Amino acid sequence: MTDTFQAYAGRPAAVGGRALDLVNAPMIRHWCEAMGDANAAYTGPAQVAPPAMLQSWTMAGLGGVGGVGDGRSAEYGDLLGALDAAGFTSVVATDCEQEYLRPLRPGQRVLYDSEIESVSAEKSTALGVGRFVTTRTDLRAYDEAAGEKAEEAVPVATHRFRILKFRPAEAPAPVRPSSEGERALRPRPVVNRDNAGFWDGVAEGELRFQRCTDCATPRLPWLPGCNACGSAAWTAEAASGAGTVYSYVVVHHPLPAAFREQGPYAVALVELEEGVRTVSNILGLPAAEVRIGLPVRLDFQCYDEELTLPVFRPATADDLPPLRVPVTRTLIVAGAIASRDYQDVHHDVELAHAKGAPDIFMNILTSNGLVGRYVTDWAGPGARLTGISVRLGVPAYPGDELTFTGRVVERDGPRRTVAVTGRTRRGAHATATVRLTTGEAQS
Ligand code: ZN
Repeated sequence: MTDTFQAYAGRPAAVGGRALDLVNAPMIRHWCEAMGDANAAYTGPAQVAPPAMLQSWTMAGLGGVGGVGDGRSAEYGDLLGALDAAGFTSVVATDCEQEYLRPLRPGQRVLYDSEIESVSAEKSTALGVGRFVTTRTDLRAYDEAAGEKAEEAVPVATHRFRILKFRPAEAPAPVRPSSEGERALRPRPVVNRDNAGFWDGVAEGELRFQRCTDCATPRLPWLPGCNACGSAAWTAEAASGAGTVYSYVVVHHPLPAAFREQGPYAVALVELEEGVRTVSNILGLPAAEVRIGLPVRLDFQCYDEELTLPVFRPATADDLPPLRVPVTRTLIVAGAIASRDYQDVHHDVELAHAKGAPDIFMNILTSNGLVGRYVTDWAGPGARLTGISVRLGVPAYPGDELTFTGRVVERDGPRRTVAVTGRTRRGAHATATVRLTTGEAQS
């Protein structure tokens, strides 16, 4: 059953789109500066454009809708206008899936055509009631600087993009119980004056322990005084996250209600490399396979909207080192401008407020760029990204810190698939799958 909005599926979203600027070194440099991306592949004589920058070449820029370089079709404009008229006046990007067929190089002109792939039925979301609009864009390019003609353009990438057009919720949407009624929730931590620093750390994606100021003895769990020298003076430190299973039990029966769904689970005493031990769950392998001495790595598991707990997973060579990126106003604005995205919610606090957001927030192109940077920082300049799919969760606001973690989930010859999560203290901001071909630097 389709309604008037859904009937737009299959119609063109952009016809004969032509990038305003040739792929060029200055825009690449501005992008790399904004993302903090120092990859050598994006400078020097063999320069390519960062693949995650793809969408920047086709953005309409400050000219905006109807301006020079806006390849948007009349039908797509009609659809967005009709959604506005129906009260869905706010917009947020939710998904971005890109496949890179060939690297883009300075001197190339990007051409593109885009289709409205689907318009969803009305959905209730955490932001408000709205509709998802998905477009699919095919991009081609030719070397205009070398005298090639538009007819010689070859496919360079495909790009699927999903936005939510929504009516801002007056108040935060209530937590919906599951279909079985009230869902059994895990027990809440008991937070008091003595251990508040530990839970503050968890909220910021860190596992913090105390260190005695007088004798330097580390301690965990949190206590008011040092059990080595009795001193009440201490400082907090963040654990690296590396550890081993010191001891464990597997809980089979009776399983508390909140644990029934997952079946038997492992509770372990994990010895951290800093010399302290903590009780936690081991996830990521069957409970029966947990053993003493198992190398593990810290992760954070979100159990419900109010409960995220530190957990451990088996450490393997497939883990990428984590990357922490402070989310500053400068990063948000620099990323938006480097990607030619002048949506007001990414630079203007008052207009962001008017659209129901508590502050400006990071645009999806920056999230995409940071995911790309995170993986190529690890893979090295010889690697080539072949695809990035990003799903956005909680927005990233000024004052947040984004912690990226990643793991190689598939290997096939030189090809790798990496699962990446970028998390803030409020939960997962970006959940991504990155595909790449390894170069000499990373095999
Ligand atoms: Zn001490």
